[in-house]
Amino acid sequence: MDIKSELEKRSKLQVNLKVKDYKSTFISVLRTRSSLQISLHKLFVEASDEIQEAVISYCLKRDENAHKMIKIYANKYFEKADYTHRLDVKKLKSKGEYFDLKQILDNLNLIYFKGELNLNITWFKKPKYKKFRHLTFGSFDKNLNLVRINNMLDNSNIPFYFINFIVYHEMLHYVCRESIGDDGRRKIHTTSFKKKEREFAYFKEAQEFEKIFLKKGKRYGRS
Ligand SMILES: [Zn+2]
Repeated sequence: MDIKSELEKRSKLQVNLKVKDYKSTFISVLRTRSSLQISLHKLFVEASDEIQEAVISYCLKRDENAHKMIKIYANKYFEKADYTHRLDVKKLKSKGEYFDLKQILDNLNLIYFKGELNLNITWFKKPKYKKFRHLTFGSFDKNLNLVRINNMLDNSNIPFYFINFIVYHEMLHYVCRESIGDDGRRKIHTTSFKKKEREFAYFKEAQEFEKIFLKKGKRYGRS
């Protein structure tokens, strides 16, 4: 199906369709009086008629059910997408002032994962404050197989077990894939994830430290 001409036929508007390859926004629709401006991820160009029909119905009517279908489909697509070839390994910085992330990752890999995980790791700057720990202290990019750790943890106040725990948590995101509910929402920290997380040797200590650390952060965080 040709999405553009189908949309033009049904809306009787001029359709400007851009196909992109960004992961973040897979569909956006802007309606003016005489035209529809649509930006669409390339994954929909090769999708089934059923999915393309949902795209069209979302563009025309902002149909809720269509949007759900699109989201589920896109999530499944990105789950499988592999962008590791885009990763410039030379630009990764894993040696910090206090901690060598690569060493930590390799060690955890041997202890907990039989050395089977093939992941990259780097420090990142500019902490963006977000609600959840894995976004604050670290993150895992599943398309790049890349663990990113906030460089505010490269500090003498951070116990070795804690930085290990944060890296371990992010590695688990590779092992325990998220599940997608019927509503299209992603469940990131599944039951099996949490179970594996507790297998970390210093789990309790890490939890305790995190509590204290976050409290301090609240008290002294503003300047
Ligand atoms: Zn997490």
